[in-house]
Amino acid sequence: MNCPICEIVIFDKEIEYCNKCGFEFIENKLLESEITEYQNRVNYHQHLYIWANRGDREAQNSLGLLYRYGDGFRKDVNEAVKWYKKASEQNEADAQNNLACLYEQGDGVTQDYKKAIELWEKSAKQDNMYAQYNLGWLYNTENGTEIDYCKATFWYEKSAEQGYMYAQFNLAWMYMYGRGINKDYLKSIEWYRKSAEQEYAVAQLFLGLMYQAGWGVKRDYSESIKWYQKSANQDYANAQYHLGLMYYQGRGVEQDYNESLKYFKKLAEEGHKKAKKMMGLMYLMGKGVKQSRKKAIKWYKKK
Ligand SMILES: [Zn+2]
Repeated sequence: MNCPICEIVIFDKEIEYCNKCGFEFIENKLLESEITEYQNRVNYHQHLYIWANRGDREAQNSLGLLYRYGDGFRKDVNEAVKWYKKASEQNEADAQNNLACLYEQGDGVTQDYKKAIELWEKSAKQDNMYAQYNLGWLYNTENGTEIDYCKATFWYEKSAEQGYMYAQFNLAWMYMYGRGINKDYLKSIEWYRKSAEQEYAVAQLFLGLMYQAGWGVKRDYSESIKWYQKSANQDYANAQYHLGLMYYQGRGVEQDYNESLKYFKKLAEEGHKKAKKMMGLMYLMGKGVKQSRKKAIKWYKKK
């Protein structure tokens, strides 16, 4: 039989991976209903392999991704680096971003922030929103370069304007605290909202917090609850905690200790620090539960 990707002849039928291209043989493990979809994928992978070898930069980047994540091929970061490099040399923006991430992590290559920055800058200047975000993050943290909030904000904004929800959130945060830019709650809430509307759970929590604090917007507890709830539905622990607090304090909802206990107990059992304190407090004060010093201490001390 032949390898469907690189077409070398394979003699051993039990082989798991092609030893030339690394293609993963799984055909004999599939159900009948899965064969068509599998064939389509194989055709796509074959197409990429051929075009990458012919020098097509987008195919080179896509093939690199397949090797990077072991999708249809044996996972092989060295192969990924090889293809990302070929594509990067042809100025393929996604490949430059992907390769930069490997240089930042030292994965498949020696860690090298200088090279990472160089590649991210090339990619970001071609308007690649992931590279713009990554560059922003680099200037925002102490990794590999001096912190520069102005540069961080500059790149977050470029990325955010292209709709990348993580950049939108970070930009909102920079506006909220006036980092690298003048503090501006109106702008902050505008970007939190854009990110939250893309279902980013952390942004949904922060939008809720802005409504609760009345920052950049009229204080509105029911809007807070609405956004906490959306975020909590995505199982985001900090949003569930804030929802628990709203029930505890009776803000935007009827005060309901049982409801808040439901949130705090679940979170405390998962090890959420503030939720453990709230459990302790509620037992100490006998709120929603029978007062018990012993149980209060148990929750305070829980690991
Ligand atoms: Zn092969």
